[in-house]
Amino acid sequence: MSEMRVSLPFEGGCQCGAIRYCVNAIPLTLYCCHCTECQAQSSSAFGMSMLVSGDSLEVDWDATKAWSRPTHSGNVIDCHFCPGCGSRLFHVDRSGDSAEIGVVSIKAGSLDDHSWLRPIGHLWTNSKQPWFEVPPEMLSSKRDPGDLEPYFSRWREVSASWFGPLA
Ligand SMILES: [Zn+2]
Ligand SMILES: [Zn+2]
Repeated sequence: MSEMRVSLPFEGGCQCGAIRYCVNAIPLTLYCCHCTECQAQSSSAFGMSMLVSGDSLEVDWDATKAWSRPTHSGNVIDCHFCPGCGSRLFHVDRSGDSAEIGVVSIKAGSLDDHSWLRPIGHLWTNSKQPWFEVPPEMLSSKRDPGDLEPYFSRWREVSASWFGPLA
């Protein structure tokens, strides 16, 4: 594979373009989720989740609409989408007491540039569609792995050389 270069910040948005966002720090990880919620939400085989720290994401939160649902692990997440076109953009775990947004999961298909998206692992492979084989070099977890640290550290190893300085 030729050397990857990603400039910060990078941008994304909803399908109609009304909601735009910008990420100004290196993401925490990128994985595919095969849980039944991600399958229902994406109307597809799996979702691609890019975790970023809340303070690295610039978006007008007043412009999105949110729907909340319980997670498999008993927390509640707010699922933010564009009210105009319905594209799902972000999941925010609201289990903490703090009003501050800790980690945001970006639906990675909403990024403008998909060419550098290389997931490092697969979650909830118990419910993956049977034709999909997890590539042997990738991490995988039958359910929620609980501790995501292996997914963070593998991402750091793989993506360390990709990101240029903040423009
Ligand atoms: Zn839209
Ligand atoms: Zn999922």
